Amino acid sequence: MTYYVTTPIYYVNAEPHLGHAYSTIAADILARHMRQRGEDVFFQTGTDEHGEPTALAAEREGVSPKELADRNSARFRELMPKINVSNDFFIRTSDPEHIAKVQEVMQRVHDNGHVYEGVYEGWYCPRCADFKTESELGPGNTCPIHEIELERQREENWFFRLSSFQDDLERLYEERPGFVVPEFRRNEALAFIKGGLEDVSLSRPNLSWGVPLPWDPGQVMYVWFDALLNYYTSLSYAREGEDLTDRFWPCDLHVLAKDILKFHAVIWPALLMAAGIERPRRMVIHGFLLMGEKKMSKSLGNVLDPFEVIDRFGADPLRFYCFREVSFGQDGSIAPSGFETRYESELANDYGNLASRTLAMIERYRDGVVPDAAPDAALAGGEDGLEGISAQVQELLDRVELTQALDAIWRRVRRLNRYVEEARPWDLAKDEGEAERLDQVLYSLAEGLRVVTLLLLPYIPETAEKLLDALGEESRELAELGSRGGGARIERIAPLFPKIETDA
Ligand SMILES: [Zn+2]
Repeated sequence: MTYYVTTPIYYVNAEPHLGHAYSTIAADILARHMRQRGEDVFFQTGTDEHGEPTALAAEREGVSPKELADRNSARFRELMPKINVSNDFFIRTSDPEHIAKVQEVMQRVHDNGHVYEGVYEGWYCPRCADFKTESELGPGNTCPIHEIELERQREENWFFRLSSFQDDLERLYEERPGFVVPEFRRNEALAFIKGGLEDVSLSRPNLSWGVPLPWDPGQVMYVWFDALLNYYTSLSYAREGEDLTDRFWPCDLHVLAKDILKFHAVIWPALLMAAGIERPRRMVIHGFLLMGEKKMSKSLGNVLDPFEVIDRFGADPLRFYCFREVSFGQDGSIAPSGFETRYESELANDYGNLASRTLAMIERYRDGVVPDAAPDAALAGGEDGLEGISAQVQELLDRVELTQALDAIWRRVRRLNRYVEEARPWDLAKDEGEAERLDQVLYSLAEGLRVVTLLLLPYIPETAEKLLDALGEESRELAELGSRGGGARIERIAPLFPKIETDA
């Protein structure tokens, strides 16, 4: 089976920030998880480069739009290894192969009769690269996002007959209830469709930084059409000498933030229908990470700067924190003090200590070899028992419930800690007659730690890799409790999450 997951492509005018990292890490978690399930995965991210905002910024700097795009695209490309993202391809909408494919698809849309020439008059925000409807305008005809006064523009351009897809879109939403998740976002998109769709402008005159319309090269494509098509075009050239389209299209999942819902959930499926291309299977819409309480923290000041966090703690604690603290799909607050609390109480205490205790006891009591036994029923069953945890997490991640899946795993991490306290291996070790019981406890701990660490790998890949190596586990495939016997040789390792150093 194949699995194709995408992030939005990031507009090159912005500085890479936590919002970009958040979308990308979400997609990375799913890509890594699906690889563990043996799926043939293709994971794509990249940059959106055309349009007026880039052209204007380049003009201000006295460089060509391409030069500006080259420089800024590189900053996004550099972000990926920093946040430890395992993308298979990085698309740029200035790639000549993308441009040629966009023209081919749009020519089909044209030939199928879904475009026409007309006059557009409306309020245009050059920084959004978007026209605003009357209901979207801020006070005094301003852009509600950029708070700048907008000018009314009148242009001859080409239109896409979005209105003619009203019924088809309603049917798509009806037939596929999981097309957009979470459900409240689906309802929002559907309400927008049912409110009546208007045709949308497809091209812009008087702009050169874009993809020329093949049937009217004096006009360039409105940047959103060119950008959305990235999800499709890349497959035709991501691998030299190979076309991956049949293998990976339709895309399994688009990950995106709520501010670009309308383009993805309404215009994008309609455009694909117009071109006779299959629609993606699903899209997940996430909320914003908002900066919470401005309480001074020990080590990070009072604003959570993702790059500072990565420099000091590595990518894993940031990856963990974002999906643990804020329920994926909702808006939520993040703060340095909250980061430190999660780091200390969950990563260092719950998980780090569990790992070091387990490894230390196996070394001390069993010469570093995991004993052979059956999993303890007390750990397998009952509340937060480990039995079936892997299947449960797979089911949650199939529904793109990233935070719920992490919570399910974490309850087992805590269960393992309670198990240590209940079973008291240090007491068992004092009594020769309890040797078999000690074997069972140490085996169950090593096995439980292995199972949860395999499940945590997509969230905290660097740490999980280190710990799985220390547990003598070579496979990265998901596993259930008891699927590996004893005999593995373990290795002691330095604390996975060292104590936070405070600035003196
Ligand atoms: Zn704007």
